[in-house]
Amino acid sequence: MVTTRSSSILQPRPHMQETVSQVCCDVAVIGAGIAGCTAAQSAAEAGASVICVEKFGTYTAHGADIAAVGTGIQSAAGINIDGRLASRLIYQWSQQQANYHLIKTFVNKSGQVLDHYISMAADYGLRVILNDEMTARPDWDMLEDRFKQFRSAHKFIRTKNSTIKDSKWNAAFFVEMVFRSALEHGAEFWFNTTAESLIREGDCVTGVIVAGREGRRRINVRKGVILATGGITDNREMIERWCPLALRADKCDNFPVGGNMGDGIIMGQQIGAAVSRCNPAPVIHPVNFSAIGPGINTSWLTVNRDGQRFCCEVAYEPIITNARMNAPGNVAFAIWDSDYKKHILKQEPQKALQFMDGLEAAVEREVAKGDYYKGETLRELAEIIGVPPDALQKTVERYNKWCDMGFDEDFGVPGRFLSPVRKGPFYASKVTAWLLTLAHGLHVDHNSQVCDEHDKPIGGLYAIGNVQGDFFANSYPVTLPGANHGRCVTFGRLVGRALALDTDINGYQP
Ligand SMILES: Cc1cc2nc3c(=O)[nH]c(=O)nc-3n(C[C@H](O)[C@H](O)[C@H](O)COP(=O)(O)OP(=O)(O)OC[C@H]3O[C@@H](n4cnc5c(N)ncnc54)[C@H](O)[C@@H]3O)c2cc1C
Repeated sequence: MVTTRSSSILQPRPHMQETVSQVCCDVAVIGAGIAGCTAAQSAAEAGASVICVEKFGTYTAHGADIAAVGTGIQSAAGINIDGRLASRLIYQWSQQQANYHLIKTFVNKSGQVLDHYISMAADYGLRVILNDEMTARPDWDMLEDRFKQFRSAHKFIRTKNSTIKDSKWNAAFFVEMVFRSALEHGAEFWFNTTAESLIREGDCVTGVIVAGREGRRRINVRKGVILATGGITDNREMIERWCPLALRADKCDNFPVGGNMGDGIIMGQQIGAAVSRCNPAPVIHPVNFSAIGPGINTSWLTVNRDGQRFCCEVAYEPIITNARMNAPGNVAFAIWDSDYKKHILKQEPQKALQFMDGLEAAVEREVAKGDYYKGETLRELAEIIGVPPDALQKTVERYNKWCDMGFDEDFGVPGRFLSPVRKGPFYASKVTAWLLTLAHGLHVDHNSQVCDEHDKPIGGLYAIGNVQGDFFANSYPVTLPGANHGRCVTFGRLVGRALALDTDINGYQP
């Protein structure tokens, strides 16, 4: 189960504490994650004086994919994502709760924004590719709308001569690049410094109180404060209140622990900002076939503890994990047969070949470790995993019928993801739900400016990255792999630059 820290959601406005010093800058950015670093870089590059405060000793970065629509790399590869369709699908994933204008701005501007950073990459010894290796499938835009995935994921890669630090997270290469560029443009980063409260005078935010080794300091801002404090992944009380389902995930891989306490929400609320009215959209990966590593999520027949199907088993997040976390007993098993190599090749014709060598040995190792279950007959497998054998048998027969027909009449799993369960021995694995991040933030307008309960923008206060509410809702839109980083980078750049230049971000308006 997910472990999180506790803090109070609604805290009273603190008394203005004694500060040991005051400084002034154009733009203060709170949080040095991918969103905050991009905003600091962008504002500094446009000539603003910038202070970015970060509670930990360095910036935060994880993951790989950064989504954009319409980059030069995509054009060169002949990829032309239909922006109207992409916007509509992201919006539909939110059940129409999100702010469509924010989504349109992201889709319309992300290509141009990422191209700017792609053009900087070579100076830092980085190159950029489309990440077809793991997320976007070359032909998945041919699937029906609810399963469509576009080739939006960009990945920064270190070349041999790069001066960028090595990391297992490709996004860290991007973040270090913008961090260094921000420094080169004169931005200051105050690490080990926590923003405690915002200062609001009249209709405007005019500064922020921060605490670090030097004591408590007041940063007065000439142009504005950009909140980039991340989501609520580490705050149990907030998750219980806004997204209790996420507490049923098996593990949480967000880091550093304690970074995402929802501080931006708390600070915003204290000065009259409203929390997003959208339901949070947890980013929860499924794992059901670890033998091939994270490369491919396979779609197997999946049953609950009663041996019954309960969801559409297209195994990318969050389609299957949302259902798993609401299954009785919070458990579900993927079931497959001995023809699994054939099935994987049918599901992933372009990619599966690279995983075939040594696959049987890897599967048997998982069985020996106790991570997979194996039975000579279905009945034996059912007994091992503790589901009623007759119910499992019945479910398998019905499922196999859909496999033969090439269409699943119960849940609509597309033919290519249906894999019959016929040839023993039979296998099962638990479907694991892996919580990466839980984005939830402040209510913002189409310019990402923070608003109050009456939808009135608060002067000088912006929210980007996971503390930007209203962009995702209900479900993370895997239709555009890397959308989370993509919106962090896009709004980071647009907001940082607009504040520096005293313009607005020209967020999409019909
Ligand atoms: C393992 C993993 C893999 C992922 N892979 C992908 C992927 O491939 N593609 C994708 O799109 N997304 C991915 N994600 C999600 C994505 O990484 C996050 O959504 C993204 O990092 C959010 O960025 P952010 O800048 O909004 O917040 P964060 O990266 O969380 O940064 C917020 C920063 O603010 C700091 N902070 C918070 N409060 C304060 C305060 N009061 N004062 C000072 N500092 C403060 C925090 O310490 C932190 O450094 C992944 C996430 C994980 C955990």
